[in-house]
Amino acid sequence: MRLILLGAPGAGKGTVAKLLTKMDGSVQISTGDILRAAVKAGTELGKKAEAAMTAGELVSDDLIMGIMGERLLEDDCKAGFLLDGFPRTIPQAEALKVLLEKLGIELDAAVNLNVPRDVILDRLTTRRTCTDCGAIYNVKSNPPKQEGVCDACGGSVVQRDDETEEAISKRLDVFNEQTAPLVGFYEGEGMLLDINATSSDVVVDAIKAKIGA
Ligand code: AMP
Repeated sequence: MRLILLGAPGAGKGTVAKLLTKMDGSVQISTGDILRAAVKAGTELGKKAEAAMTAGELVSDDLIMGIMGERLLEDDCKAGFLLDGFPRTIPQAEALKVLLEKLGIELDAAVNLNVPRDVILDRLTTRRTCTDCGAIYNVKSNPPKQEGVCDACGGSVVQRDDETEEAISKRLDVFNEQTAPLVGFYEGEGMLLDINATSSDVVVDAIKAKIGA
């Protein structure tokens, strides 16, 4: 399948993407994960992205399109892909449209995960992430067996720099201003699947029904 996953930070895009990749071998492409890996490795890309990320702001469209232009050409995308956290602005959505037309690739849908703001805030402030493998935990509903240690890889499980209350509030403002308009964009393209997304199972079932999987 080839999907765009839209939704606020904490709406469950990553969780849903992980469930969907198990169904048909599609690959999850998270621009946030790519950028965090670059920051950790101290690459040029990481140095350019770090300040904006920590402040909860968006990295430039040019930088993101440079990453995605290369990423979508990789072999593992042939089995399908789930775009998690991209596109994030109207210019990114327009550039993606041109890129996919050039590559002759059609998307199945742009899925919008609707989650109330209070649920989002609660999820983000209690979310913890493994710095090594990116596994996601929640201090209330899904803590690692040993505090601070990843069950999957033994890496350290921490609160992300951009998940302080101040950065979260900034990220939600940025989402409302720059990313929420994508819902209208994809509605206009006839591609929108809008879902009340408080449970990831409901989302996966709605997507399966839509694309006939
Ligand atoms: P995420 O893990 O998707 O919430 O992304 C974390 C941070 O990475 C965001 O707050 C942005 O600073 C940056 N980022 C990720 N994806 C994009 C994108 N498509 N466009 C611009 N910035 C992005």
